[in-house]
Amino acid sequence: MNSNQVKQIDAEHLWHPYAAMGSASQYVVTHAKGAKITIANHGEVLDGMASWWACIHGYNHPLLNQALHQQVESFSHVMFGGLTHAPAAELAEQLMQHLPAGLTRFFFTDSGSVSIEVALKLVLQYQMAKRRPKRRKMASLRGAYHGDTFGAMSLCDPDKSMHSMFNSMLAQHCFLPRPTAEFSEDIWQQWQQTLLAQQDEIAGVFVEPLLQGAGGMQPYHSEYLRRLRALCNELDILLVADEIATGFGRTGQWFACQTAGIVPDVICIGKALTGGYMTMAAMVTTSKVAQQMSASPAGVLMHGPTFMANPLACKVAGASIRLLESYPWQARVSTMNARYQAALSTIEAIAGVSQVRTLGNIIAVDLTAPVDMASFTKLAVSHGIWLRPFGNMVYMMPPYLLNDSEQALLVERFIRVLQQYQQTR
Ligand SMILES: *Cc1c(COP(=O)(O)O)cnc(C)c1O
Repeated sequence: MNSNQVKQIDAEHLWHPYAAMGSASQYVVTHAKGAKITIANHGEVLDGMASWWACIHGYNHPLLNQALHQQVESFSHVMFGGLTHAPAAELAEQLMQHLPAGLTRFFFTDSGSVSIEVALKLVLQYQMAKRRPKRRKMASLRGAYHGDTFGAMSLCDPDKSMHSMFNSMLAQHCFLPRPTAEFSEDIWQQWQQTLLAQQDEIAGVFVEPLLQGAGGMQPYHSEYLRRLRALCNELDILLVADEIATGFGRTGQWFACQTAGIVPDVICIGKALTGGYMTMAAMVTTSKVAQQMSASPAGVLMHGPTFMANPLACKVAGASIRLLESYPWQARVSTMNARYQAALSTIEAIAGVSQVRTLGNIIAVDLTAPVDMASFTKLAVSHGIWLRPFGNMVYMMPPYLLNDSEQALLVERFIRVLQQYQQTR
């Protein structure tokens, strides 16, 4: 099928994320390798998105390809009910080398949102086992994003999120004020008072540690997390860290919890888990929580997806972790961060830019007006860079594996596109 036919069928029949049916604005990808995506009729673009933060090693990596080929030749999938396999066991062992200490009990799911659903069930069943049936509410943060399924949606910011039209159909949780880049004693007091006042009803607290991602790419101070950890311990409320976006090095360490110096009771990982090759996520908890939960009335964790612990996904995730262990990605992330830092004043000087911020391998630029996605993307592609802004924000989260000249080129193009776009406003 040629690319014009693809575009035509796509426009008529295929939905895209958060999109209307029938929009003809998609670009057809014919190939992707390393940091470059080839777009039909446009040529190569440097990838500034890592395909929604997942493809941390870039595309078409020989070692990940090899892992996948090997597993296909062996078996691609078997049910996880009653059966198990080396790719899952090996992956658990590898992850334990890098996760915050004590997180050793794994539930492999098929997407990030589903791992949040599983975490919700775990938290509820934990409190049931503790004979506190009134603890049925969660606390979450203003500005949060935890996924698109109904349980996950109920944890997203109820006003600002793209799901607000469903509010009347969602479980009503408790929302704490948005944390800030500088620690604010005042905001912390509000968190503390709310949790103390509602401790009889609150079962768990969900946070995206250090960086609120899809809710606006907002880094925040780690002191909030340290105090929250202590308070949750005191009240026996479970602390759930959603590291689906921040995990696997994005903020400079393997996991953002490590940067913050906390160990959560539950962690959700996804996105970069398979190096962006295929869909898989995991909910991981401590042996203490797992044991306690087993004393709940059900006795078992009530979830079991068809494609649980898919061997292909486990195998490629294992290879992705080995790859992370094999090259100095931390140095690459910090040189990328230095490049962002060096570019801050140039970007701040562009008319119509209201704020620029950076953390690890992330840079985010707020504009004073919503970005016109179609014209912005067109301009970016013409400059040889792939970006996907949202709201009034333009950001980058590129693969780590860029070499020096690719890094420089990416930042250069990012700045040039912003400048030209703002000139046309
Ligand atoms: C992407 C994301 C999710 C949802 O993951 P899916 O795989 O898209 O379901 C949940 N939480 C955070 C923080 C995310 O960035």
